[in-house]
Amino acid sequence: MLDTQAKNELLDIVGIDKYLDRPEELACYSYDAFLEEALPDAVIFPETSDQVSRILKIASRYKIPVTGRGAGTSVCGAPVPVKHGIVMCFSQMDKIIEINTPDRYIIVQPGVVNADIQKALEPFGFFYPPDPASMSVSTIGGNIAQNAGGPRCLKYGVTVDYVLGMEVVLASGDIVRFGSKNIKDVTGYRLSSLFCGSEGTLGIITEAILKVAPKPETVKTLMVTFDDLDNTAKAVTDIIGSGIIPVAMELMDNLTLNAIEDAASLGLDREAQGSLLIEIDGVKEACEKEMMHIIEKVKKNGAIHIQEAMTDIERENLWTARRSAYGVFAKLAPDIFSEDVTVPVSKVPLMIRKIVEITDKYHLKVGVLAHAGDGNMHPMIPADRSNKEEWKKVEAAFSEIFQAAVDLGGTLSGEHGIGLAKAAYLPLVMNKDSIDLMKKIKQVIDPDLILNPGKFV
Ligand SMILES: Cc1cc2nc3c(=O)[nH]c(=O)nc-3n(C[C@H](O)[C@H](O)[C@H](O)COP(=O)(O)OP(=O)(O)OC[C@H]3O[C@@H](n4cnc5c(N)ncnc54)[C@H](O)[C@@H]3O)c2cc1C
Repeated sequence: MLDTQAKNELLDIVGIDKYLDRPEELACYSYDAFLEEALPDAVIFPETSDQVSRILKIASRYKIPVTGRGAGTSVCGAPVPVKHGIVMCFSQMDKIIEINTPDRYIIVQPGVVNADIQKALEPFGFFYPPDPASMSVSTIGGNIAQNAGGPRCLKYGVTVDYVLGMEVVLASGDIVRFGSKNIKDVTGYRLSSLFCGSEGTLGIITEAILKVAPKPETVKTLMVTFDDLDNTAKAVTDIIGSGIIPVAMELMDNLTLNAIEDAASLGLDREAQGSLLIEIDGVKEACEKEMMHIIEKVKKNGAIHIQEAMTDIERENLWTARRSAYGVFAKLAPDIFSEDVTVPVSKVPLMIRKIVEITDKYHLKVGVLAHAGDGNMHPMIPADRSNKEEWKKVEAAFSEIFQAAVDLGGTLSGEHGIGLAKAAYLPLVMNKDSIDLMKKIKQVIDPDLILNPGKFV
């Protein structure tokens, strides 16, 4: 429970309508899409940067932890308030402030949902490239704090590549701004990049200037199936190695295809052992030429069926299938443990073999889903956490998968972040001095450890 005096001061800022502290209300803000839960003492919905600043001044004075929250779709426990205190939710700060396509930027508040930016840009013939599969609900504040990726980041890059500037409120309540509306801007440390991926541990993002891009003239989408998972992975390495960078190259294995088909009956090939959803874009002639090369490569690797989406509806169906993969897996078992290891693309076939080998060893089911073109794997293990034996095996399998990725020159997370899920594994990829440097940065910016305490730093 918050100190009564602190509560009254917070109510003075936001009013009773924007403040929750009944147990049944708090429960709704105690979890994300990972497995841990912790109740906050209060949930607060600021409407302006000034309110955020005043709330943080109070939190600092009373030493109350503050954890930012967008849509709560994190899959690593990042917005779970493990040290309780205040959850600050941005659903009331959801305005698009400015769209400027000649200068190629958009200015938004943190609670704007990613898909709403796409919709707003549509009439201008522009789009915002980072497209997490959660884009229909996840917010820009959460996307920036997690440095979110997504399928088309293979060609276009991840969130940090699109953040030109931002306004941030520090734990002290100070409001700072970095970057600008300019595509080129080399003035001092690029602090906006430091806040990308900081998981709400350094400051609260209250406004962001994002780079946008013109929509390509042509988009082509292919679904290719294989009767062998290894060949599916080899086709990925072959395509990228030949110098073609598709917009997206999404790999799904047999278990994943069947889980989607069971849930949505989209006509996916239930017999296929692997599939690639490949998208390219650009000018028409270049797309046609690239498509020919891609078809040549997948055939060389034993493709059994190649289907091009001929209409927008067909294309959307294929993407719906891919985006629903995580959700449909949740139907296979009481819990679903999904990971995010990433390896250099030439190591994708080897990493997939490792994942299958390790999970076979522990007699666990695994669905292999990957943004394969950039080496980002999402092995998903359906399991029951209340079955202690099974859960031990899941944990052991993932430890080995992390180690295997690192041994192949890869890393722990391509886009989901560290949060609570992988904090213990950080030393696999960072030495002590590097972790100490992160701790020192945190100490300088947030000396009382007010912001999202208990996480990776
Ligand atoms: C079905 C599904 C599919 C997904 N697909 C992808 C994918 O393709 N790519 C990908 O990268 N991720 C994916 N994710 C993970 C998740 O959607 C992303 O990490 C997303 O960016 C989280 O946004 P959110 O608004 O839900 O943030 P939350 O989960 O609410 O918060 C995430 C982090 O951001 C912090 N935060 C939120 N707002 C602010 C703010 N204004 N200032 C400072 N910190 C803040 C929180 O404290 C927390 O640490 C997926 C998740 C699900 C459930």
